[in-house]
Formats: sequence, structure tokens, C-alpha cells
Amino acid sequence: METTGKKKLQIALYWGAACGGCDVAVLDTNEFILDVAAIADIRMWPIATDGKYKDIEAMEDGELDLVLFNGAVRNSENEHVAKLLRRKARVMVAFGSCAHIGGIPGLANQVTKEEIFDRAYLNNPSIEPGNRTVPLPESHVEAGALEIPTAYKRVYKLDDIVPIDYYVPGCPPLPAQIKGVLLAVATGQLPARGSVVGAGHRTVCDDCRRTRHERKIKKFYRPWQIIQDPETCLLEQGIVCAGSATRSGCGVRCPNSNMPCRGCYGPAPNVKDQGAKIVSAVASIIDSKDPAEIDRILEDVPDIMGYAYRFGLPASMLQRRI
Ligand code: SF4
Ligand code: SF4
Repeated sequence: METTGKKKLQIALYWGAACGGCDVAVLDTNEFILDVAAIADIRMWPIATDGKYKDIEAMEDGELDLVLFNGAVRNSENEHVAKLLRRKARVMVAFGSCAHIGGIPGLANQVTKEEIFDRAYLNNPSIEPGNRTVPLPESHVEAGALEIPTAYKRVYKLDDIVPIDYYVPGCPPLPAQIKGVLLAVATGQLPARGSVVGAGHRTVCDDCRRTRHERKIKKFYRPWQIIQDPETCLLEQGIVCAGSATRSGCGVRCPNSNMPCRGCYGPAPNVKDQGAKIVSAVASIIDSKDPAEIDRILEDVPDIMGYAYRFGLPASMLQRRI
């Protein structure tokens, strides 16, 4: 890998509210990771190295050439580290769907924090009566005070908390996107700040090879409920697909594997609200004008919020339940 400077790149990877898949995706770059090790010092990467926050605090501002931050912001620790890394980073990337648009953790914005705590710690069939404990930000034990992060009332996407230089969408991002970002930073060939990197400028539908016939439907199905026609648009077969609302660039991974797009690349350019556009696509495919029949047909879509805002509720116009 050719680089412009002699000094090794200083990079950090961090996860906020996330599943860890974005970190695993970095390992999916296979032997390229050895090239990275040759040109870069990895100063922090909690999944792989035992970094401490005090090591980051001790750095000069701007000392890190690149931070890949995956995960949304759900609690005070996520926010603290996001702000800390922002200060230390020359280039900060919202890496993966959760940092980009809130991701799966953002679905929690459908309910209140109190409802989540009630379900997780109080009224849950797996908790024995008498053993119900709600975690507190600070507790006092014999050895002293114990602190844990404070959970926030809602989930935030990363740029709600700190300014971001680039966005790499995907759940998780593809190895080619990861290589692209690292190479761009290494060679100084960065696109305009604020760009979505490693993605297209159209919709997933625009890249999809399946044929659309402008057919309407009277029934929705889960992917496993029918034997599908591999040549025809999934939505026209009654399988809810988010392709028309979603940014291209993944190579139509899911529809090409006979699964519907779930929207992980976020809203396509010119789509203001990805979920609203998906709801509109679902409504427009229904072959009925009778409200009672429409209601019956929609009963086959059991969780329309989960379909429409699977990845982007914190970035949507709705954002959260008040
Ligand atoms: S809705 Fe899905 S299956 Fe249909 S054309 Fe778009 S991406 Fe392809
Ligand atoms: S098809 Fe949709 S859900 Fe699947 S990887 Fe592409 S953008 Fe993500």
C-alpha cells in the first residue's frame, strides 16, 4: 500500500451501542489487515486490544489520523468517548448503520426508557420474584462508590452528538468500503467532508436485476412462507422490500440472496424519510380500495415500524416516542 507520508497512520476503532458486527467486518478484510498493521498504529480497538480511556485522554488533540466509530449513542459513556475521540481525531467516520442513522439499537426509540427498564429488570419472566434490581448510575458498597454509565431516554445517531467527517453505511459495512476509507486516509485522497463513502447515489431498486411488472398484491408474505420467483421483484410477490427507499452500493446483497432489502444503507439521496417511503411503497402495492380489505391485507405485516424503520428511526422525522 502506497502512502503519502512517512509517519505511520494513527488510528482508533471504537464501538458505542452496537452488536460488534462492524468490528468483525474489519477482520473480514482478511490479509488486508496485515497491510493496515504495516502502515498504521492501532491506538485503540476495544475488541482487539486492551486500550484505556486515559491513554486517549493523554493524546494531543488531532493526534489520531482516523477514528472509525461504530455504534449509536445510548448512554453517558458512549457520549463521553465520542466527544473525546472527536477531539483527538483529524478524521472521524460514522462507521456502519448504528453510527450513521441509529441502526437496530435505534428501534428502542419506539418505547420509553422506563418501559425498557421495566421489561429488562422488573417484569420479565426470567427474573425470579425478590431478585429484581434496577441498575443505578451510582451505588455504594463496602469498597466504595461504584459507577456505571447513565442510560439516556433515547438512542442518538453519532452526528447528533459530535460533528462527523464521513459516513460509511451498512450493517455491517463491506470489506471493500473499509479498505476504501483506509486507503483514502492513507493516500490523502479524501472526498468532500460530509460525504457518504463507499455507497452509491441511487436506490437499491435501481441496481436490482429483478423485473418489476407494476403488479399489485392481495397478500403479504414472510420470505419463508412462499417459493419465490427469483426473477421478479420481491415486493410484487408480497415480500416487503425496502429497496426503493434505500441507498445503493451494497451490490443488492439481500435481494440477490432471495431476501428482501431491510434498508441498512440508510435513505437514498433525495429520500427525506426512509421509513415513510417504505410505508408508501407498501401502501402503493396493495390491490384494494376497500378500507376493511386493506386492513386485512396489512395484518400480514405484523410490525410495520420494524420494517420501515429497522435501521433509521433516530434519523427519521419521528426520531422517538415522547
Ligand atoms: S423492491 Fe426489492 S426486489 Fe423489488 S426491485 Fe427493489 S430491491 Fe429489487
Ligand atoms: S440489500 Fe439492503 S439490507 Fe441488504 S445489504 Fe443492501 S442495503 Fe443493506
